[in-house]
Amino acid sequence: MGDRIYLSSPHMSDEGYEMKFVKEAFETNWIAPLGENVNEFENELADLVGSKSAAALSSGTAAIHLALRAAGVGEGDVVFCPTLTFSATANPIIYQNATPVFIDSNYETWNMCPKALEEAFRKYPQVKAVIVVHLYGLSADMDKIIELCQKNNVILIEDAAESLGTYYKGKHTGTFGDYGIFSFNGNKIITTSGGGMLVSNNEKKVAKVRFWATQSRDVARHYQHSELGYNYRMSNVVAGIGRGQLKVLDQRVQKKKNIYEYYKKELSSLPGVNFMPSNVWDNPNYWLSVVTLNGPARPFDLIEALEAENIESRPVWKPMHLQPYFNHYDYVGTDVSEKLFENGLCLPSDTKMVEKDLEKVAKVVKELW
Ligand SMILES: *Cc1c(COP(=O)(O)O)cnc(C)c1O
Repeated sequence: MGDRIYLSSPHMSDEGYEMKFVKEAFETNWIAPLGENVNEFENELADLVGSKSAAALSSGTAAIHLALRAAGVGEGDVVFCPTLTFSATANPIIYQNATPVFIDSNYETWNMCPKALEEAFRKYPQVKAVIVVHLYGLSADMDKIIELCQKNNVILIEDAAESLGTYYKGKHTGTFGDYGIFSFNGNKIITTSGGGMLVSNNEKKVAKVRFWATQSRDVARHYQHSELGYNYRMSNVVAGIGRGQLKVLDQRVQKKKNIYEYYKKELSSLPGVNFMPSNVWDNPNYWLSVVTLNGPARPFDLIEALEAENIESRPVWKPMHLQPYFNHYDYVGTDVSEKLFENGLCLPSDTKMVEKDLEKVAKVVKELW
């Protein structure tokens, strides 16, 4: 991978925990389909976040899809979804033939704006479910969002794909809603090469999710199916990587926090450089260090200047209501997410970075100022 500085790349443990679990899978020939690593990865993650049960799946996207199905979302149903997110949050709404309504962010959290959510409830009282995202590892304003969902009797799904290790008021994100999902894609805070997890305190629903994820095979000697199924289960090899990665999650969060603090110390005095919000109730995992720029350089100038030094960075997610595929769906809000997209920049936040890498990044930014 050379000398390139990455945004956020896979980082296996120095101790080789992942290999140990993968090796066990090989030695027992439990390569697939299921096996001890899958069961234990589910138990360990559920324990870690404080949820009653978990289902290990092939991706975070698959987990969102089955959470929607568990929530009873189907043809024609309305689902509220933040506009400022990765498309993987919104795509499964379409898989279920439901209709997304996109909700703006606020500047306090960068996540779903409770005021815009309230307005959306007035406009769409028939809404079936709300998906809230904890973007870049920053928690959303959960008390207000939960209160609104309860008042309107609507199911809440938390897309915590980017926020494993983030606490809201001392409790793990992903455990506030009826369903929570995590992702172990390559650039997330921990990775299994690819994979996801659905968590819920509703054990019956989680069992159902596992059933749907293995082609909805009825209990019968022959292959019998009474429901639509999917091939969404995590393999036992992949789950072994996940078990190893869970052991270093705290280390990764600490390093991400150090990276954020370094940038803050070096760059926050530059006029027009503003850091992602911090809130007293939020204890983020600092998955990515994100800034907004209103100074002499635009985000794309900086991305190019960093690229010239072989350093990866990227813009903030382009809002869903501005995407060609999604722009005909309704959007409730003002222009907060658009402004964050126009001015936002994700700085390299790779946990393999050393002091001199961080210095190199800071130098490029300062030279443009
Ligand atoms: C990565 C991500 C997902 C999807 O997870 P996959 O495991 O890649 O399918 C969903 N939502 C958000 C916000 C993400 O960042």
